[in-house]
Amino acid sequence: MNNFDLAQEISLVSDQAQWVGVRTFNEQTTYLVSRNGLNSEVSSDIQNGMMVEVLSHDGQLAYYGTSDISKDGFKRAFDEALRLAKLSKEHGLTNFDTSIRPPEKGEYRTPVKKDVREVKLTEIQSQLMQLSERMKKFDNRIIETSAFAMLTHTSVQFTSSNGAEWKQDFHIISRDLSATAKEGSEVQRRSTGLLGRQWGFEALEMDELTAEADKIAAQSIELLTAEECPTETCDLILMPDQLYLQVHESIGHPLELDRILGDERNYAGWSFVSPEDFGQLKWGPNFLNVSFDPTLENEMASYRYDDNGVVAQKQYLIENGTLMRGIGGIESQKRSGIPGVSCARSTSWNRPPMDRMANINIEPGTSSLDEIIKSTKRGILMHTNRSWSIDDYRNKFQFGCEYAQLIEDGKITKTLKNPNYRGATVSFWNNLTHVGNEDTFQVWGSPYCGKGEPNQVIRVGHAIPICKFENIEVFGGA
Ligand SMILES: [Zn+2]
Repeated sequence: MNNFDLAQEISLVSDQAQWVGVRTFNEQTTYLVSRNGLNSEVSSDIQNGMMVEVLSHDGQLAYYGTSDISKDGFKRAFDEALRLAKLSKEHGLTNFDTSIRPPEKGEYRTPVKKDVREVKLTEIQSQLMQLSERMKKFDNRIIETSAFAMLTHTSVQFTSSNGAEWKQDFHIISRDLSATAKEGSEVQRRSTGLLGRQWGFEALEMDELTAEADKIAAQSIELLTAEECPTETCDLILMPDQLYLQVHESIGHPLELDRILGDERNYAGWSFVSPEDFGQLKWGPNFLNVSFDPTLENEMASYRYDDNGVVAQKQYLIENGTLMRGIGGIESQKRSGIPGVSCARSTSWNRPPMDRMANINIEPGTSSLDEIIKSTKRGILMHTNRSWSIDDYRNKFQFGCEYAQLIEDGKITKTLKNPNYRGATVSFWNNLTHVGNEDTFQVWGSPYCGKGEPNQVIRVGHAIPICKFENIEVFGGA
């Protein structure tokens, strides 16, 4: 990080603006891939720089990023940010004041059992090679296997003219295993699903990964002779490794306040949600509770401060089935007048914070998986996302999964291949009939949520129980 007194440098220029803040960002990511038991890729990426943000006396915000972390680098970036803030006065939509940059002080650090940086990369790659080889040797119909790990360490430090002084240190690991099987013209791929969390080397614990590898290898073979998913309207049970993406696309994205304000319509899209819907719209039955929770330990996007320096708190977006709150940081809340959350985040030193999901979770309900299956006369249980599509307003969608099971008269009767379902957001969630209990609750997360121009690909977490829906259109096909 910096080797000069940033607070001192800020104080030398602070009378030229209402507020000055600096976010220093350092991130190192290592990607490891093994295919078919072989060493396929080990590469890494480093980002290091700082973003200087200025709130002008006219109430306009502007920023300037630099990889020159020095006194001179700071001064040049400050001068540019101030020049841009002054220029933006004639185009300004909102006049901000210092209340949007609270002077918080403190620290956050991912709790890890073992820091992955203490482990040699050759040891981690050797584990991945063992896993992909084990799946390849499982059956000669398995034609391709892969084992993937992405190790990220991020340090962020924030200092401002009104006394903010905090830092955060994140340890993140994402992992995935996959096996593709082929017999004749039939090809089926099964994977664990990309799983990211804030955790240490415990993410790569071999007993658990070996069991997962054996399960997906066996299921890829099982799918080769499975029946096609039927086309009908029936009950649908979604496992957390699919439901987390459903929540991401059809609850998370439409509730982003910058989308609702129209900022994203040129690129990521708009939202069917309107400002009047908050406090009114029935998103689901009374037992649906969806939280914004950056405080859940070890979930992908847990933190103490968002990148505007607002302290993170658990809040309910959907409470007892009613839409209550949007995913909008302090700036979007001021612009829209809609209640939001501490969710302004950026992906690097050269990107400004904007409204992002962080952890968006479904609170556990009361049903066990066994009760959910027993309550189903005819239904399909789907595992692990394979494909997704949703319109620009985040309304009509279609998802495909890797593996499904038919339920008849309260029992699982057979495996189905190529399962898909479709729906429209609000009616789909209102067809929810069961929310799984704590035993079915799993912490999922992805490093790949894209948004913004220039693009920002960010990490999001979704902790989700198993859920059941009724009257859903399901269909087969690759
Ligand atoms: Zn996304």
